[in-house]
Amino acid sequence: MKRLATALILAAALLVSLVPLAHAVHWKTIEDKHLVVYYQKESLGRAALRLAQEEQKRLIRFFRYKPSEKIKIYVYNDPLAFRMIAPNRKAIGVARPFSSEIAVLAGEELRTTISHELVHVIFLQSLPSLRGLPFWFAEGIAFYLSQPRLVQVDLERYALRGDVRHIEELSGNLSPEEEGKAAAEGYLITKFLAEKFGVQKLRTMIFFMQRGKNFYAALQASTGLNEQTLDKEWHNYGEAQKKLGSLRELRFFGFLVIALLAIIVSAYWLIKIRKRLLVEEEDLEGDQ
Ligand SMILES: [Zn+2]
Repeated sequence: MKRLATALILAAALLVSLVPLAHAVHWKTIEDKHLVVYYQKESLGRAALRLAQEEQKRLIRFFRYKPSEKIKIYVYNDPLAFRMIAPNRKAIGVARPFSSEIAVLAGEELRTTISHELVHVIFLQSLPSLRGLPFWFAEGIAFYLSQPRLVQVDLERYALRGDVRHIEELSGNLSPEEEGKAAAEGYLITKFLAEKFGVQKLRTMIFFMQRGKNFYAALQASTGLNEQTLDKEWHNYGEAQKKLGSLRELRFFGFLVIALLAIIVSAYWLIKIRKRLLVEEEDLEGDQ
């Protein structure tokens, strides 16, 4: 689980690799009107096409944007071959939004990985410009919409490790490790926005961005928050989540102590009852 979460997070570092995504593998293809899936294992190719169709439909509806060309999806089942095109050793997905290509390493959470990379393609293509788009939001929205059910808890715990950071610390020049953390934090900030204002407000904000507003102008127009107030609110939310997390752990610990006590107490009574029965039996034998 932990490994998978980190892998998903590091799938984040994606827009950088310049190697062709169809690296030296003999591909077969399967396609429909909007997608071409490149695969080696037939069952995987079919599964990937079905998942991608479902996710693409959902995402096109969310972003109100339909890509103009077919999206190519390379499904690798050999980790070594995937390493040749991956931006880093832990990545399990790569997106090349402006050539409408994604590559994924088949494994657990294939739907989440395909969905995450599809968000990158559809969302980024839908914007007139990427200027001023914070890295944390590009990743945050991809994680939020790809619904990483299995790894969600790990992702949140990872985001809250250490101090809750300021939003301006999540952009700029980040190392791959820092990018992974910033992506997880971006996920939590996006989740916070969706919880506080509702998913519709998130869509309105994206709609404003698609109409040419930069990120913070769109945020302010839809939620009333600016960079400073978002930072403050996120900080409070992050701190509260951290407390909740330790409370949850404390509650588990408390439960453990109560359970242990219950076992000790019932063992004590069992011994006492048995002793009493033995005495009564002896008494009975004595009477006879
Ligand atoms: Zn990503």
